[in-house]
Amino acid sequence: MKLRTAGFGTSGYRRNEGSCRMKDQSTRGFLSALEADGELHRVQRAIDPRFEIASVLSLRERGPAQLFENVTGHAMPVVANLFNSRGRFARALGVPRKDLDRFYLAALRNPVKPTMVTDAPVQEVVHSDAIEVDTLLPVPHWFEREAAPYVTAGVIVAKDPETGRRNVSIARLRLEGGNRLMAGIAKNHHLAIIAEKARQRGHDLEIAVVIGNHAAVLLGSQMYVELGDDEFDIAGGLLGEPVELVKCRTVGLEVPAHAEIVLEGRLRPDDLIEENAVSEFPGFYVYYGPGIGVEIDCVTHRADAIYQAILPGYAAEHCLLGAVAIGTTLTRDLQRSIPAVRRVLVTDGGMGRLHAVIVMHRPRLGEGKRAILLAMGLVNLLKLVIVVDDDVDPEDPRQVEWSLAARFRGHEDLIVLPGVKADRCDPVHEDLVVTKIGMVATTRPGDGEPGGRSEFARPPPEVYDRIRRDLELY
Ligand code: MN
Repeated sequence: MKLRTAGFGTSGYRRNEGSCRMKDQSTRGFLSALEADGELHRVQRAIDPRFEIASVLSLRERGPAQLFENVTGHAMPVVANLFNSRGRFARALGVPRKDLDRFYLAALRNPVKPTMVTDAPVQEVVHSDAIEVDTLLPVPHWFEREAAPYVTAGVIVAKDPETGRRNVSIARLRLEGGNRLMAGIAKNHHLAIIAEKARQRGHDLEIAVVIGNHAAVLLGSQMYVELGDDEFDIAGGLLGEPVELVKCRTVGLEVPAHAEIVLEGRLRPDDLIEENAVSEFPGFYVYYGPGIGVEIDCVTHRADAIYQAILPGYAAEHCLLGAVAIGTTLTRDLQRSIPAVRRVLVTDGGMGRLHAVIVMHRPRLGEGKRAILLAMGLVNLLKLVIVVDDDVDPEDPRQVEWSLAARFRGHEDLIVLPGVKADRCDPVHEDLVVTKIGMVATTRPGDGEPGGRSEFARPPPEVYDRIRRDLELY
């Protein structure tokens, strides 16, 4: 079914009309808003899911969202590039761009428990026998040396077999033919820990893979919380209301009612499948070894479902999802120990994983270095951390470089730590260690005083402020 109309149908999207509290928890309102802004590009030309979608997305990686309406061999359209900028998250979450960081922190501090509904758009269509995932869904085959297509925006719901507590996370899923998939899960991720608990108990782990999620669910699933904390609660915090969940048809799990597609099935921890080459955030192939087999028993979706994909590798959206989660978590954690910390930004150039800028308000002598050590200690990935004053916008690489030129003294503001544990995807690690570097580019106490070396040259403030107010008159 092609989307030929201007808008995105929300049929089946039933609301208690008496309640105006509930928001649109689907992605559809956001797609309509993007389209109204000229930020959604419809690709009507026939496109092959094998490498052609990846090529278009790579070429428009930081551009408008892309809706592929005519995917060869499939009636279902593919949407991608949805959250490739911070502004898109602001728009999807209904938050002013400048308030995003405060908003994320508030959501972490104020989780909202989900609520159950019985009538779910995501279950309008149910397939429960002879499942062929590659026939049902237009899953793109991304890169040349990857063996098969990967589901890249699949939010995986599971429950800890020991505690019964829910976990919600994203992991890559490769199509293995028929109803089989392979899940690639980092060993330290909660889902891997839960799968191992299931393996020790000698049984499979039920999972539900949710595709086509509201920004709050996608982002909530990425936030760093404890094992046992329900990421749907964080998603509720981001929404400002409970996420509406519906019971799955064949597994004892609950999924967002307003999503596009759900795959219900089982992780089979003893069924190991060699992955070989797979792309990672540096933009290179990596070789992780075997992943875990998955069997899908049931697929449900909206009648006019849209398949959501995230371009993997070194791509804006893939990098940004992790960057927002790491930055928010680190801001929260550093502020507990060092109140002068205002913000942590994990940078685009640093692949959304490896480099960070810490913004501090008048740090005391040595406090910048302490923030660097703490950040590196908390997040294994980080290997270059720069501290700047809070008159600098960390999202502007030019301003960060200006800080280095204006405020950084190499002989004493630099930390070089060779031989520190590295992330396994770090492109230059040797035996899983790497040299970590910290740079403190902040004004020292006294530096900015009148007559000092860092006193800004500006017109008198009363003149400057008056002109700024009335600038359009000039
Ligand atoms: Mn978790």
